[in-house]
Amino acid sequence: MDKIIATKNLDNLITKVEAARLRVSEHHIVKIIGISKYASSEDIKTLYEVGQRAFGENKVQDLKEKSQTLENLPIEWHFVGTLQKNKINNLIDLNPTLVHSLDSLPLALELNKKLVERDKKLSCLLQINSSYENTKSGVDPKEAIDIYKKILELCSNITLKGVMTIGANSEDEELIKKSFTITKEIFNTLIPFGARYCSMGMSGDFELAIACGSNLIRVGSTLFKN
Ligand SMILES: *Cc1c(COP(=O)(O)O)cnc(C)c1O
Repeated sequence: MDKIIATKNLDNLITKVEAARLRVSEHHIVKIIGISKYASSEDIKTLYEVGQRAFGENKVQDLKEKSQTLENLPIEWHFVGTLQKNKINNLIDLNPTLVHSLDSLPLALELNKKLVERDKKLSCLLQINSSYENTKSGVDPKEAIDIYKKILELCSNITLKGVMTIGANSEDEELIKKSFTITKEIFNTLIPFGARYCSMGMSGDFELAIACGSNLIRVGSTLFKN
């Protein structure tokens, strides 16, 4: 991907995000995470040079390789993938800005234990399976608020900052909207408990996600397309 294409991709995205957020409110700020899981370090660098600062990966090993290759750039790295217990230590060592995919209480307890051992803290979002698809990870929406409060209570070294969801995998916009609305309602309930980020929306559905209240979108293919 050359700089001209990177600029065009980013400008197109920002234009759409800007319009979508202004339809909500001029005070509604949306942050863009470039999901680089299918992109090379070189393409990440090109997008960085045209102005994108935050990127996300879904595999600990990829996060490690790309963040080390690009360690000279002040990139903000996010982790958005399913976290296996045997990768927790590796992830902690990489110091990601935000982990979007804390998807169960047992995982939170295990992660917290390892963080305490290392005297480190990590910012996380609770992932919610708002579409009830069994291919997706995340907690049941009906249990989300309880689990969020349990993590706040039991996991001193996890800094919970909100919630994340992946929209329903469907052509039916109403179904996708429903999964976002469910998540936004949970987010609203958790604002008094410190929730700040509602991470929802990808290339195919970020405008709908923003309309439903997302303030953090995770965009991959649209940003890195050639
Ligand atoms: C891949 C991925 C994205 C980005 O998906 P695109 O459709 O390429 O924008 C967002 N969130 C998660 C968790 C992902 O794994």
